[in-house]
Amino acid sequence: MRLHVLGCGDAFGSGGRHQSGYLFEGSDRLFLLDCGPTTLLAMKRAGFAPRCLDAIILSHLHGDHFGGIPFFFIEYLYQNPPASPVTIAGPPDTRERVMELCKLMYGSGKSPAQNAPFTFQILHPNESTSVKGIEVFPFRVPHQTADISLALKVTYDGRRVLFSGDSAWTDEFITHARGMDLFLCECSFFTEQPAMHVDYQKLQANRARLECKKLLLTHLGEEMLARKNELEVPLAEDGMVLTI
Ligand SMILES: [Zn+2]
Ligand SMILES: [Zn+2]
Repeated sequence: MRLHVLGCGDAFGSGGRHQSGYLFEGSDRLFLLDCGPTTLLAMKRAGFAPRCLDAIILSHLHGDHFGGIPFFFIEYLYQNPPASPVTIAGPPDTRERVMELCKLMYGSGKSPAQNAPFTFQILHPNESTSVKGIEVFPFRVPHQTADISLALKVTYDGRRVLFSGDSAWTDEFITHARGMDLFLCECSFFTEQPAMHVDYQKLQANRARLECKKLLLTHLGEEMLARKNELEVPLAEDGMVLTI
């Protein structure tokens, strides 16, 4: 399985990096983890046809993680319909939030959300599920209070990936990273942060406890980018291709 990093930036586009989007190319499936506003263009730049996408799996419903979906709707409506209906899987309210967003962005005359060939699937914390044959185990992480933010354990082609989504540090990462081929972990900041995101100092303090084969940091903010040369863990780059 190959991972194409389409966007490893934070919500602010720090360093000119694209917002959250990770394209996985398996033997028989092409799927995204997260779909930030820049994902469609980055997917095309990477040489992939959006019509070949099987699923979009969302960690949470912040704009930098799902704000790109309306562009896929209009791509499918007006340019190239997908080969088969694309499944959008995400936390509770995904369907409502996506449809609301499409309506806000493109009006209600011909609502893409009502016409485009999508199906929705809700991910419930701690319930393993199959999304088009891709095994997904979501668990709740501390990032928002009212709404649910998920980390995603994804298994396909015998390869296992843990994606933190956006989250403050939690020891759940120690448990779930065990045996993973890749832990794709957000690390927005370098210095310790109070609430919503992982910081490098906290991550390094726990580094020895993470029993994953590979660790890659993503969702990088200005502070991380400014201290790039001091870091002992590899950073994601837009356009990076990784064989897992
Ligand atoms: Zn984010
Ligand atoms: Zn977020």
